[in-house]
Amino acid sequence: MKKIVILEGDGIGPEIMREALKVLEVVESKANIKFEKTFGHIGGEAYDKFGTPFPEETKRKCLEADAVLLGSVGGPKWDSLPPELKPETGGLLALRKLLNLYANLRPIRIYDSLKSISPLKETKISNVDLITVRELSYGIYYGEPKFIDNEKGLDTMIYDRKTVEKIAKLAFEIASKRRKIVTSVDKANVLRSSMFWRKVVKEISRDYPNISLNHMYVDNAAMQLILNPSQFDVILTSNMFGDILSDESAALVGSLGMLPSASLGDINLYEPAGGSAPDIAGKNIANPIAQILSCAMMLEFSFGMIDEARKIEKAVELVIEEGYRTRDLADHSSKILTTSQMGDVICKKLEEVW
Ligand code: NAD
Repeated sequence: MKKIVILEGDGIGPEIMREALKVLEVVESKANIKFEKTFGHIGGEAYDKFGTPFPEETKRKCLEADAVLLGSVGGPKWDSLPPELKPETGGLLALRKLLNLYANLRPIRIYDSLKSISPLKETKISNVDLITVRELSYGIYYGEPKFIDNEKGLDTMIYDRKTVEKIAKLAFEIASKRRKIVTSVDKANVLRSSMFWRKVVKEISRDYPNISLNHMYVDNAAMQLILNPSQFDVILTSNMFGDILSDESAALVGSLGMLPSASLGDINLYEPAGGSAPDIAGKNIANPIAQILSCAMMLEFSFGMIDEARKIEKAVELVIEEGYRTRDLADHSSKILTTSQMGDVICKKLEEVW
């Protein structure tokens, strides 16, 4: 039986996770399978109970799992703790390191009926359906040496062949199941690490003759995401550029509550793109869709349950098309639902579309 570790975390984490688990129960009953689900503590809530944001027991459970489903961590209550005890650094970053994550996938899709909440004009965002494939384990965030003193700060941007080959292959594989376009984003007009990145990506592309590869400088990519986002299918990029561009592309949707993510490594991690949303936590008004779609990504990428994942996505799409909204998505004509009501209508729809 496949083992899933569930880490609800802080803020809206437990509320949105509850709805994702309801959806997972529908999948279990319809597909006639059973997952072994174990709960673990992480983040501020773990610090409050155990004095650490990442207890040993949670680490052990994660290492024994087939996939980790995370809510979110952090909040103002824990902001003044030292880095090793903070939910984000001592909890989430430590978890990412433990799982040896090397790629972050963030799909961005604009539903027709949600175009009005995008900050861009509707004509600009028609047909936007892209995924950022961000290298997660190397680059300037981890490159050595790094130091800071009173006179200087230094970080090192470095990429090696093995790392670029691995992430490039993943991007080409993903593109082969989509519109077959990879845009590799770098700064090869200035940075040596980017010149190397571009060279290796070109080499790998020879193994994927049916995928169209283009290269774009990161400054232009930032502009193109606003001017013409529908040109992108798969954006392949390094750690820091991906960090920035994936948040920029998230803004196209208009609410963080819609955006799932998957991070691939020794054991994959699935989590919403947004944080713990302390401003709305505990009110049963958060949007659970990002967490539900993260669950769909888990079915697809960890368990190969592609049909089941598509069915969840279809159920979400239909519910949105029918005008159901949580507050973050609402306009005056919408049917506004609480977090738990949104989970319920998605479950009902999933049963219908199965
Ligand atoms: P945030 O993503 O939590 O919230 C930004 C805005 O988006 C808020 O207005 C929030 O209400 C809204 N929002 C986010 N998710 C939503 C949802 N599902 N439904 C409806 N609205 C939603 O970012 P922030 O306010 O900068 O950070 C809050 C805390 O979360 C901080 O402690 C931060 O460090 C942490 N954080 C955690 C993660 C993570 O766990 N992966 C990611 C980002 C931020």
